[in-house]
Amino acid sequence: MKIGFPTHPRRDILEEIRWIGENGFDFVDLFLEPDRNVPEKLEIKKIKNALAAYALSSVGHTAWNLPLGSEHKSLRRAAVQLVQGYLQVFAELETPKVTVHANWPSGLFSDLEGIKYQLEALGEITEYAAPLGIMIVYESLDTRRCTKENIHKILSANKKLGFHADIGHLNLLGRKPLDYLQFFRARLEHIHLHDNDGHRDLHLPLGAGNIDWRELLAYLKKIYDGTITLEIFSRDKEYVLHSKHVLQKIWQEV
Ligand SMILES: [Zn+2]
Repeated sequence: MKIGFPTHPRRDILEEIRWIGENGFDFVDLFLEPDRNVPEKLEIKKIKNALAAYALSSVGHTAWNLPLGSEHKSLRRAAVQLVQGYLQVFAELETPKVTVHANWPSGLFSDLEGIKYQLEALGEITEYAAPLGIMIVYESLDTRRCTKENIHKILSANKKLGFHADIGHLNLLGRKPLDYLQFFRARLEHIHLHDNDGHRDLHLPLGAGNIDWRELLAYLKKIYDGTITLEIFSRDKEYVLHSKHVLQKIWQEV
């Protein structure tokens, strides 16, 4: 198992990588999005050197709100082109997996229509990513429409996609993260860990919410040995380091 941390898209990416490297993480989750970390502003060589200096590998992450499932065809088109631009950067950085997020049309459009729109966009993206050596991983969000059934329809229709299990998102709206891990275990390619109260997407440190981490990690360890990003949003980074310690400790014990 490898533990990583995200770079903040509005901060200096090299400083972000330095903190991640100095604090003993295995990889960086490169959150490439506005305003500072967009393709035209990034200095690839410097980022590569910074990663190499700390022997860090990387995974990639595009903005969570790209309209890949919008009812507006021109917005879907624009979102696909944006993702393709980021994929060029990730290819240069030799990043093997990149996250894109679920996205749904307005309420006048059915779940099936939303699935169709997303599949059109995701199909173009996975076709573009494959020759670059990149796997696209699909992260579900805290929306009513990100059900197990809908995610299953998307993953079944595009076999190139991996499943990105965001454990915090899967703990909302009465959902159970363990249930999703069991169901999608064969497609599991990346994990985000953070805690919450079951009602709001709080991105809390591990143990600050209601997730039973011992139960969850005991199962995860049996089926998965890949990348885990601590997607914890706290001003005080000690909470992140504490969560890393908790994860390592429980992983060892279970
Ligand atoms: Zn996430």
